[in-house]
Amino acid sequence: MKLKNRRIAAECAAGLKYPGEKKKYKTFKDWILGTSGKGIYEHFMRPYNEKLYHCKLDKMLPFGQSAYVPEVKRKRKAYGYNIEFYYPAAGGIGSFSKTLSGFVFDRTLLNAEVKEIDPVKREITYGDGMKAAGFKEIISTLPLPELIPRIKGAPKKVLAAAKKLRYISLFALNLGIGREKVNKNHWLYFADPEICFYRTGFYSNVSKKLCPPGMSSLYTEVSLKQGTGYDQKKLVKNIKRDLIETGVLKTSDNIIAEQPLYIKYAYVIFDLNYHKNIAILREYLKKVKIISTGRYGAWNYSAMEEALLDGKAAAGLIK
Ligand SMILES: Cc1cc2nc3c(=O)[nH]c(=O)nc-3n(C[C@H](O)[C@H](O)[C@H](O)COP(=O)(O)OP(=O)(O)OC[C@H]3O[C@@H](n4cnc5c(N)ncnc54)[C@H](O)[C@@H]3O)c2cc1C
Repeated sequence: MKLKNRRIAAECAAGLKYPGEKKKYKTFKDWILGTSGKGIYEHFMRPYNEKLYHCKLDKMLPFGQSAYVPEVKRKRKAYGYNIEFYYPAAGGIGSFSKTLSGFVFDRTLLNAEVKEIDPVKREITYGDGMKAAGFKEIISTLPLPELIPRIKGAPKKVLAAAKKLRYISLFALNLGIGREKVNKNHWLYFADPEICFYRTGFYSNVSKKLCPPGMSSLYTEVSLKQGTGYDQKKLVKNIKRDLIETGVLKTSDNIIAEQPLYIKYAYVIFDLNYHKNIAILREYLKKVKIISTGRYGAWNYSAMEEALLDGKAAAGLIK
């Protein structure tokens, strides 16, 4: 991507030319400075990640070899984990899980909240009081802070470790716009703290079938600090204002559909106590024979393809 601001571009390029020495990085901040230099740190990585995580970067672990936060490279060729991807031609990504669920639908119970898991009796109690008993194995994809307090008899130390897990929540706004191709990109990231969202993306640029002809569909994502409430009316107003401020939408654009969404567990924060807390939880889950997997069950940064591979690996653990 070409930066229009020459001073910023020069500072980013200079830092990238002489990044810090290769060493074992202790924090996310050290890792960015050491691999990408001061320019990229100050102009993008610090403001963007502080906005996303609501956390100082010297209080987070380095992502290291994670494919999702790749080291910035001086390459003209595109790189990163998502420069190429597959997507269903029609029906959105939900069509994928719908198709998969077709194979097991007769054994699927939907919209049933797990209230309690008795690991000794091997029994699950649902929100409506219904029980599932006599299971040998259990694979859970519930977020760890939800799973642990639901396990009957979980020790205090384990409950405390689960409470210490850090994450961010998210408010997303899906919009339908009455204009074709409002933007040429798949998605855009915003580091500017004055802009309320950190990312916006364009469904209709992924597949034309994701909106009616002559229109566009897009999403915006606002990060919410763990445990804080939000004012939906105000957020929607600010998102629309900032879509115009950033040039994504025009004042003349007609918003013909909108869908607000709240996601409690959105991104795991790899705080400095992450490994300590996770080790306590994993040891306990092994003891009570619960396979906790998936993005929030393993408490990780992962994408949909890993969720599928996690499922396959979990099934492989069952004798
Ligand atoms: C904003 C955002 C953008 C993303 N973008 C992408 C992307 O572009 N590409 C990509 O590949 N991945 C993306 N991901 C990641 C992807 O969504 C996840 O990796 C995937 O959904 C993880 O699947 P999972 O089954 O592990 O967890 P989930 O899909 O979160 O499933 C966990 C389920 O547990 C349920 N649950 C919670 N508590 C209970 C309870 N007590 N009883 C019963 N059920 C309960 C939840 O309702 C949820 O349905 C994104 C994630 C976010 C948050």
